[in-house]
Amino acid sequence: MRIVLVGPPGAGKGTQAAFLAKNLSIPHISTGDLFRANISQGTELGKQAKAFMDAGDLVPDEVTIGMAKDRMEQPDAVNGFLLDGFPRNVSQAEALDVMLQAEGMKLDAVLDLEVEEDEVVKRIAGRRICRNDSSHVFHVTYAPAKTAGVCDTCGGELYQRGDDSEATVRNRLEVYHTQTEPIIDYYKAQGLLVTIPALGEVADVTKRAMDALKK
Ligand code: AMP
Repeated sequence: MRIVLVGPPGAGKGTQAAFLAKNLSIPHISTGDLFRANISQGTELGKQAKAFMDAGDLVPDEVTIGMAKDRMEQPDAVNGFLLDGFPRNVSQAEALDVMLQAEGMKLDAVLDLEVEEDEVVKRIAGRRICRNDSSHVFHVTYAPAKTAGVCDTCGGELYQRGDDSEATVRNRLEVYHTQTEPIIDYYKAQGLLVTIPALGEVADVTKRAMDALKK
């Protein structure tokens, strides 16, 4: 299956993507994670992306599309993938269609995680992520780690992403509304869009998404 996950920052894309990818036995491809890995390894691509990410802006398409394409061409992705955070604007969505068409492939579904804006800000402000694995996500109030600052799953250090500060979150939401939301209509027009209410327990949201994919 080839699936795209969309939704505002804080909708739980990373958390849901990890569960869905595992259930479906396909790789979870997160462009945000790929950028963060490049930054921590000090690569040229990481240097190009960093300032945009710190400000909560989109990294330019010239950098992003090539990186996403390289990842989708890896052997583990031949039978499908779950894209998390890509595409993030209409020109990336068009580039993805061109890429897939060239290989005789197409998307199976686009899952839109829907959540209220106030909720999103609360979720992001309290979010803490494991340095070892960004799919190990905690929240200081909603999902606290047993020991503050330490990942329950692997013992890694928990940290707050630099771009999770309130000012940057406001900009990321603005960027989401102006640049990313138009892809919802783009995919609706292709008959691919499935809207999933993303409130409630993590496992319930995963179930809603899995049920929708079976239809
Ligand atoms: P995420 O982890 O998906 O929230 O992404 C973190 C940041 O990485 C975003 O705020 C952007 O600066 C950058 N980023 C991730 N994916 C993309 C993309 N598809 N296009 C442009 N920038 C991206």
